[in-house]
Amino acid sequence: MQVIELIDKARKEGRTLFTFELLPPLKGEGLKGIFDTIDPLMEFAPSYINVTFHREDFVGEGAARRKVRRRPGTVGVSAAIQKRYGVEVVPHLICGGLSRYDIEDALIDLDFLGINNVLALRGDCLRGQSHFEPHPQGHAHAEDLVRQIVDMNRGVFIDGQVGECHHSKFCVGVAGYPEKHSEAVSLDEDIANLRRKVDAGASYVVTQLSFDNRKILSFIERCRAAGIAVPIIPGIKPLATKAQLEVLPAVFHVDIPAELVAEAARCADNEAVKQVGIEWAVMQARELRAAGVPVLHFYIMNRSDSMRRIAAQIF
Ligand code: FAD
Repeated sequence: MQVIELIDKARKEGRTLFTFELLPPLKGEGLKGIFDTIDPLMEFAPSYINVTFHREDFVGEGAARRKVRRRPGTVGVSAAIQKRYGVEVVPHLICGGLSRYDIEDALIDLDFLGINNVLALRGDCLRGQSHFEPHPQGHAHAEDLVRQIVDMNRGVFIDGQVGECHHSKFCVGVAGYPEKHSEAVSLDEDIANLRRKVDAGASYVVTQLSFDNRKILSFIERCRAAGIAVPIIPGIKPLATKAQLEVLPAVFHVDIPAELVAEAARCADNEAVKQVGIEWAVMQARELRAAGVPVLHFYIMNRSDSMRRIAAQIF
């Protein structure tokens, strides 16, 4: 089933859906860790599970510097989850490091595997690059990736139209940024670019993590004012360690509200920070559900403990 169909059905029933996002295992690890994360969360009936996509990265310095892909396997992991749990999956697909041909191959595999959902992203710059450089035969913006997927649904492949053919049925989601994407000069410009992704055929938006519901709800309002009518799904990250107070703003370009920083800073250890993070995420989830969001999307970084304790209070 497509994510948009799940959302439409839940809306009619007055329900808010639950989903979470996983990373494929590190190269050389098996799937056990992934299943160990999912198993304790299945009782809360996630409507679908997202699986991130990771491009190659530079490791080492000087002459030892080389490109490594640490977490391959998004397509295989997604298919394995769908088969084992019978739950829909949303593999992420990025532009970074991939040609349009690589992307088409991945989409054809996903279609053969019975996967009808994709989250279309641009991906980040490589470490040390000042700006995003697309693959020479690839896409510069997520909008172009959306267009390729939508074209394929219509039987338009890279090397031309196929008249009588099997049509894929991908439902495409895209990313939105309540606290602005780091490269955009303003939130208005970023929202205008988000609108282009929706106009290209995206059916819904998932937001970058934010700890601030006022920013999330204001972003949704501004998107509506800019003519973006599709469902907008907020992303919630349960804070888990003191170190994340610095790491998360640096990596994801988001602010952590002063009140949450102060509470976490007072904690004696990370077990206490985790409890603070759970209480904050529960508060966010309750408020957002009351505000009528269709789905709550949790960034769990392959850890089920906090998520289980949050889900027990919400779903
Ligand atoms: P885009 O929509 O292309 O936007 C990137 C920047 O370009 C923005 O500043 C935007 O305003 C601007 N822009 C967009 N379109 C245009 C245009 N047509 N002309 C000019 N400017 C334009 N990364 C991964 O590598 N793997 C993942 O699995 C992954 N999952 C994610 C899931 C979610 C929910 C989110 C929010 C992010 C995820 N990311 C992932 C990170 C994402 O790849 C980065 O944030 C990336 O820098 C931007 O991706 P995008 O799809 O938003 O890009």
